[in-house]
Amino acid sequence: MINIKNINVTCLMQHARVLWCDETKEALVVDPGGISNEIVDFIKNNKLKLEKILLTHSHFDHCGGVSYILKHFKDAKLFGAENEKNFRQGVKEMMFAVQIFDETCENSPEPHVFLEDSMQISLGKEKFIALATPGHTQGGFSFYNENNKILISGDTLFRGSVGRTDFIGGNYEAILKSIKEKLFVLPDDTIVYPGHGGNTTIKNEKLTNPYFI
Ligand SMILES: [Zn+2]
Repeated sequence: MINIKNINVTCLMQHARVLWCDETKEALVVDPGGISNEIVDFIKNNKLKLEKILLTHSHFDHCGGVSYILKHFKDAKLFGAENEKNFRQGVKEMMFAVQIFDETCENSPEPHVFLEDSMQISLGKEKFIALATPGHTQGGFSFYNENNKILISGDTLFRGSVGRTDFIGGNYEAILKSIKEKLFVLPDDTIVYPGHGGNTTIKNEKLTNPYFI
């Protein structure tokens, strides 16, 4: 079984998440967007083995705390999109462009592993599948675990909304296509964990999301 701990980071209240396998205590962090001792302490206090850091995309509020995590867990491997180096290396520039000043966000190093569509990412006895969901950014990914019906949707699908497409690399048609073709084909009772705001289900979004009805 997979457990999930949600920890909010940055002034945008981004949901960084620690996920771990009950049986093996192996853990991964998705989208550590800002420096957070809460994430580090949670992993240490629960004696989890941090193996991986996954990025749904590389906007500053999702990757800004990667360096800090890697300082504390030197063996963890970072997984991210190959074509988002500009975001990872331009955290302060993008924040300046949108007039957000948050000292907890730093540039992120380049991934050890570049994500690819349908890539399997193990978590102890469980696994996630990386689903390429471009639109919010060109290198956007969502992460799906079938056994526990978990979908980490980043800034692609929100409860009652979709991610912004007015940043560099954003594409409105692409985000709608990604959601319809890659996410709405998942089982209705899949629980969706977005990067911001409340959780939802695939069924709820198919029935009530104003971008699709
Ligand atoms: Zn974003």
